[in-house]
Amino acid sequence: MASIDQLITNSIIQMAVAEQEVRLADRINALEESSTLGMTKKARELAAQGHKVISLSVGEPDFKTPQHICEAAKKAIDDGFHGYSPVAGYPDLRKAIADKLKRDNNIDWKPENIVVSTGAKHSLANVLQVLVNPGDEVVIFAPYWVSYSEMVKLAEGTSVILDGAFDNNFKVTAEQFEAAITPKTKVVMFASPNNPTGSVYSEAELRAIGDVVARHENVFVVADEIYEYINFTAEGHFSIGSIPEIKDRVITVNGVAKGHAMTGWRIGFIGAAKWIADGVEKLQGQVTSGTNSIAQKAAVAAFNGPLDDAKKMKEAYQRRRELVVGKLKEIPGFKVNVPDGAFYAFPDISALFGKSDGTTTIHNSDDFCNWLLDQAHVATVAGSGFGAPNCMRISTAAADEQLAEACERIKAAVATLS
Ligand code: PMP
Ligand code: GLU
Repeated sequence: MASIDQLITNSIIQMAVAEQEVRLADRINALEESSTLGMTKKARELAAQGHKVISLSVGEPDFKTPQHICEAAKKAIDDGFHGYSPVAGYPDLRKAIADKLKRDNNIDWKPENIVVSTGAKHSLANVLQVLVNPGDEVVIFAPYWVSYSEMVKLAEGTSVILDGAFDNNFKVTAEQFEAAITPKTKVVMFASPNNPTGSVYSEAELRAIGDVVARHENVFVVADEIYEYINFTAEGHFSIGSIPEIKDRVITVNGVAKGHAMTGWRIGFIGAAKWIADGVEKLQGQVTSGTNSIAQKAAVAAFNGPLDDAKKMKEAYQRRRELVVGKLKEIPGFKVNVPDGAFYAFPDISALFGKSDGTTTIHNSDDFCNWLLDQAHVATVAGSGFGAPNCMRISTAAADEQLAEACERIKAAVATLS
């Protein structure tokens, strides 16, 4: 039983939380905490207490940024790029991005169509702020990255979530999409390769989605291509923004975080029709100004430079996919799909719901992931935040030995449930 002191302390904490909530703006009270970052914080706290935690929660390359990119950053410091940068990004960076879009994606945008921001996350949030009016519907293909629905809330839009079936590799079909369109639909957004499922939409699937967009002239596409270089399919990456009929209504979002192992540098961008790019520049001019000058110069080297390192990292992720998928398939109760890209496994664990280790009963994926962190010290993320409550996400961006050990720990923990 809790002591009197403990009860008093708990009620003081509750009162403080309640008071904060009254003072915070409604838009922040309505916002969910990012579950990817939330689990990562919990894992760090456990590790600080001396536990041997394997953190497979945050989706972050475990590689260092390639040397030629780091050198460009050092040079930028020495060359004196210390002042404010233009709001939409340095001209050489916007040009390098326009060249990259042409080279890799067959998308023909000029530098004036490019806006550089503080990570692809910032680019996505900017686009929604610029396009979505209160009450507009934003169709989101689920499972989706946790921040999409919350960014839509911040833009006062309404999320319309469409579920990709496990048997269709978690992908939403063009038919599902068309059936969901209403006069209020403003945007459809999805990532390919996908976070959390790793699914890759093929060219044929994207052309079918493009046909639907072509038939609905008020609908815009936000195409999140941040995992572009981590694609294991023979066909490779296709960009929906390269379809000429809808080019003006596709906002291509990408950055350097995943493909170039540059999560901390915080560079993302959009390629879009000029009026949309101008809208984002206007917003950024009032909220953040141009992003970090040194990181921008590093990004020029990333976009103009060789892709050898990106290719090597992709090969490592592909090898780890085999390792993790193989091991997870051995665990009773885990239903595992084979991701075609990115660095996540996303098993369906609903067969474990209702089971117990004698003390804790697992009701849902949040219970399972919290229990796993406590019991096995393996940090993962529940599927609920990704719009897929039957699943859990395991990042495969870690050393092979760590991944093997994590899978063994998960297997041993699951064996204690009945
Ligand atoms: N989109 C998806 C699907 C992601 O997984 C991430 C990773 N955080 C982002 C966007 C944001 O990337 P960045 O680190 O460039 O903000
Ligand atoms: N994209 C990563 C993830 O999904 C980074 C964390 C975040 O920004 O959500 O884990």
